[in-house]
Amino acid sequence: MIERTLILLKPDAVQRGLMGKIVSRFEDAGLKIIGAKMVWINEEFGKKHYFDVAQRRGEAVLKRLLKVITQGPLLAMCLEGIHAVEIVRKMVGGTEPKSALPGTIRGDFAHVSYDYADGKDLGIKNLVHASANPEEAKQELALWFKKEELHTYKSVHDAHVLD
Ligand code: ADP
Repeated sequence: MIERTLILLKPDAVQRGLMGKIVSRFEDAGLKIIGAKMVWINEEFGKKHYFDVAQRRGEAVLKRLLKVITQGPLLAMCLEGIHAVEIVRKMVGGTEPKSALPGTIRGDFAHVSYDYADGKDLGIKNLVHASANPEEAKQELALWFKKEELHTYKSVHDAHVLD
């Protein structure tokens, strides 16, 4: 039941100075940060990470997305917790900020719609990426982190959240 998931605070989150607020939400929920690093990825790496987006959403979306994801450094983190994959997706909210619920990261810190972004040929700046399911989480964590970059340690969560 204890899972690991990948979360990316994308360049728009970094440039808007929202890293602390977003990281706090995960810490407040009792999720354990077991890996974190700031990375400025290139298009080739972006294509590896978003390998299925062209098929799911179309080539035009992938092109816009790659522009957004490579425009500055991002913060990559591995979070660990009970049903972490599902919990983190719930906290992140829906893909389109316009329809993401209040209380979610995308719903609280953004409001752009698909119509607006697509009309302007822009990627949706929705601040974060989170693995969609446990299988994807495993694949994505293998892409982003080396084994030795993920740490095992005791935190207060072990005593007060997990026990
Ligand atoms: P999610 O990030 O919620 O799992 P997807 O994997 O389907 O969603 O899409 C990847 C990213 O592509 C989204 O987070 C968003 O930044 C961008 N994106 C998706 N659809 C569009 C669109 N219609 N126009 C612009 N950008 C989009």
